[in-house]
Parts: sequence; C-alpha cells; structure tokens
Amino acid sequence: MNELEVIRRISTLLPPAPPEVLVPLGDDCAVLEIGDRRWVAASDMLVSGHHFEDWATPEDVGYKAVAVNASDVAAMGGTPRFVLTSGGAPAPETALRCFAGVVEACERFGVYPLGGDTTRADVLTVDVAILGELATQPVLRSGASPGDSLAVTGELGASALGLLALERGMTGQERLISRCLRPEPRLEAGRAAARLGAGAMIDLSDGLASDVRHVCDGVGCIVDLDLLPIKDDTRELAESLGHDPEFLAATGGEDYELLICAPEPLLGTLANSVEVPLTLIGQITDSDVIFERGGESVDGLTGWNHFT
Ligand SMILES: [Mg+2]
Repeated sequence: MNELEVIRRISTLLPPAPPEVLVPLGDDCAVLEIGDRRWVAASDMLVSGHHFEDWATPEDVGYKAVAVNASDVAAMGGTPRFVLTSGGAPAPETALRCFAGVVEACERFGVYPLGGDTTRADVLTVDVAILGELATQPVLRSGASPGDSLAVTGELGASALGLLALERGMTGQERLISRCLRPEPRLEAGRAAARLGAGAMIDLSDGLASDVRHVCDGVGCIVDLDLLPIKDDTRELAESLGHDPEFLAATGGEDYELLICAPEPLLGTLANSVEVPLTLIGQITDSDVIFERGGESVDGLTGWNHFT
C-alpha cells in the first residue's frame, strides 16, 4: 500500500462530516468554520530513521516539524496561529532539545504552542498539529482549469542536494543543508495567491513530479523541466555527484515551495506583489501529466513514497 491508498482506506472509516467542516481530509489542510471565522487544520509527523538520521540535531527536527506544518497552512492561503506538539525520544534530554526547536520555529512563524504530550520512544519522533486562520477563501488542490499556468515559488532541488550533502558528511554546503533542515514556508506568497483568487495550490513536500498530480485530478498538465528554478550551487553539486539537476529538482522532495495554478496575468500580479521569486513552469491541460525537456516528453518521473 502506498500513502494515497492508506489515506483512501482511512477516509472510508470516517463518519459524515459535521456542517462546520467545509473541506474534509484530502487537501493540504482541512477547513473549519467556527463562529464567523474560518480555520485550517493539519498535522505532520517526523520519525528518526525514516525522515531524518543522526545528521539532524533534535533542535533541527523540532524546527522542521513546525515549518512543514506551516507550509501546509501556506498552501491553503492561511496564517499559522497555534500548534500542539507531541514527541518522544529514548532520552528525555533529546525530547527537550526537540521541543526547543519547536519553540524556536513557533517564534519565527508567529505561532503559539498550545501544548501537547511527551513520552519515551525508541527513536526520536515528533508530531505537530497546526491551526491556521483564513482571511480569504481557501485555495484548494482541486481548482485547476485547463489554460491555467503553473508557477512555483522559490527554488527546487536545493533541499534534496542538502540531504545528499548531509548523508555524505560534506562541508561547505551550508545553504543547501539549511534548505533541507530548516525549510522556509512560503506564507506571504500563499496568502497573496489566495487574496488574488488563484485556482489551485499545493506545497511541494514529496517532489514536484508526485505533488503536481494532486492538482491534476480531472485535468492534466505539461511541465517543462528546462524551466525549473534551480540555483547554481544546487546544479553544481548535483552534477558533481553524478545526478541530473532537473531530475533531482523534479523528484527530490522536501522543497516546501508552493505550486500555484492560475491564469497567467494573475500569476504576473502575484509575482509583483511578493518577495519570493515566482517561476512559470508549465500549463494545465485537459488530460495527462506530461514532463517535457527540449520539446520531448520524459517518462518515469515519480516522487517520494511514504511507505517504502
Ligand atoms: Mg502539503
């Protein structure tokens, strides 16, 4: 079973949603209406030996657990407000260091830690549940229309290269390593995209090649690999390690950039109103997800599978 199959089976166990649930499980966040305010809610877990190894400090792990949840809030167009954090480790000191990273990230992203739970565990594990506030309609994964352009914030591939550098114990790649250990949720861009009425949005956690399929339910797309925003240091390290930079940028995962589908003029306005760079990488079409390079289609691009 892959992750989507597990989620599909879990969703068959759920009772009907009460009326306050405007968007149930299946998007970056669920959307709730409480009183006259709309909230988004999500959670994400990091487990040692699966999501990270000894090269990450417990503080990094705690920080990242908050950052990746804030990224899911960004992908709905919301503002992260509160977290609940549960975690465990073989030694209490390790759990404490992890929570210090959680608090550091909370301060950075303007989030208040409401509480949580801690326990002894065989390996360092941390789960963050987040609540964010919406000032606009949420941007769902499902709103892409044929003719929309596809844009991505920031850069791709840096985190995947940072991970390779960490695994190899390389020095001198601090920028790439920091992109892996301390990702930057694109909160400003997410809110601006929602304000402007973007059609669909998702944050890139599993890799563009995998995540783009979530905004192509019922539609298709053409993505031009030659347009992917890859910085020079990412490209140089990829090539020196024998990797194709574009393939790595499309499949590496953990970029925590936003993939935004909207008419091109809207994306132009968005690009002018946010600090983070925005790059057009393709088009929404009627059917089929196609990756191209030099005008030829490229097969076999997939992202991260959580159960392998
Ligand atoms: Mg997400």
